[in-house]
Amino acid sequence: MKFHPRTSRRLFGAVGAGALLCTLLVAGPALAAPQVAKASGEGTCKLFDNPSFSGWTSYAELGSALERIERTSKGKVAVDVVGQTQQGRDIYTARVGTGDRVLLVQSAVHGNERTGTEALLGILKKLGSSNDPATRRALENVTLVAMPMVNPDGGELNRRANVISWDDIEERHPQLEGAPRAWYHSLRGDGIELPGFDLNRDFNADLDYVPQPEDLPGDPRDAGFFLSPESQSIRDVYVDLREEFGEVDAVVDLHHMGPCNALTGGEQDGKQISVALDYPPLGVNDGAAYQQQWPLLDQDKSRRYALAVADGIRDSYGSQSPLAAVGRYFHPEDREYAGQGRSAFALNGSATVLFEVRGQSDDFGQKMKGMLVQSVQTGLESLIDSMATGEVDTLNGDDFFAYPDYGWDTSQD
Ligand SMILES: [Zn+2]
Repeated sequence: MKFHPRTSRRLFGAVGAGALLCTLLVAGPALAAPQVAKASGEGTCKLFDNPSFSGWTSYAELGSALERIERTSKGKVAVDVVGQTQQGRDIYTARVGTGDRVLLVQSAVHGNERTGTEALLGILKKLGSSNDPATRRALENVTLVAMPMVNPDGGELNRRANVISWDDIEERHPQLEGAPRAWYHSLRGDGIELPGFDLNRDFNADLDYVPQPEDLPGDPRDAGFFLSPESQSIRDVYVDLREEFGEVDAVVDLHHMGPCNALTGGEQDGKQISVALDYPPLGVNDGAAYQQQWPLLDQDKSRRYALAVADGIRDSYGSQSPLAAVGRYFHPEDREYAGQGRSAFALNGSATVLFEVRGQSDDFGQKMKGMLVQSVQTGLESLIDSMATGEVDTLNGDDFFAYPDYGWDTSQD
């Protein structure tokens, strides 16, 4: 039943697509029956009961890959450990470039969404070792801080949530003893009987926020509470960069979209969407309700950065390439997620862009890995180049609306 084209079209259209879809996945079955959607040269959409993950970079492989990239970069790439998960795994940053414009990119906050990790490793390797004019320009003008695997505990289980019990949370935040569990904490996830958070609801625009019992359990539309060590680490990296540079120009969050057979419209009508992009889901009228408290919020800026990604992918492959089947999320009234990291950072003035590639790693294993990693890497490199040349500042954010909206025919809803 999962992601049957007709069902998913209605289902996700009705609830507002996008990030909500991720919410639905939490409650949904972890493993789908094998299923084949139409494949017309754009890659298959076959799902597996027990897919192989050996093609994806594991947590242990990530550590050695980063070490190798740092070593061979001759000082250009600096790798740091900025925190530990509840299970004691390291959370890494890798920094490259010396420019004034800061781009923070995080990946795999949902552990079963692994494409971005591979794309970031590819980019770090290239920026650390190439000497072509585009690379030199990027390193001179941009500082890239990559967090290639921010939820390794979830990643090692190929599941969305991290692994942490509410008792652990009370131990970390004693003031919460006896308070109700946060709404985005679950006792199990993706068929695995271990508690944890949807980490991408654990953010708050008030970066100094300390969890208060009276704020729990919270609400899906409102801010989260920085309860988990992973979201705290991401917040700390952001705050340190803001202190160092004055502002964090842009934040990119790399995900998967869930369905692997969503179809795009527009020039690529009827093709399977490869990458869907989004600016922050902060309610109607471009987040007008937030503007007074958070005057730095600039939704148009986020659209310009998303446009730089979309145009870069299209121009690299040509509009008819399966790699360039780019969609965008639309923003119905009920699509408001102040607790997502990208929303919290956008409210602090950063442009933020969500990348979601087709499918879910735990459903299709490593099928289509190469193609999807390539699309994400190209999109990120296009953004870095556009920041390095300053082109991103000259774009018209409204042009982002010319990209087809995720493939859902909203007239049916
Ligand atoms: Zn996700």
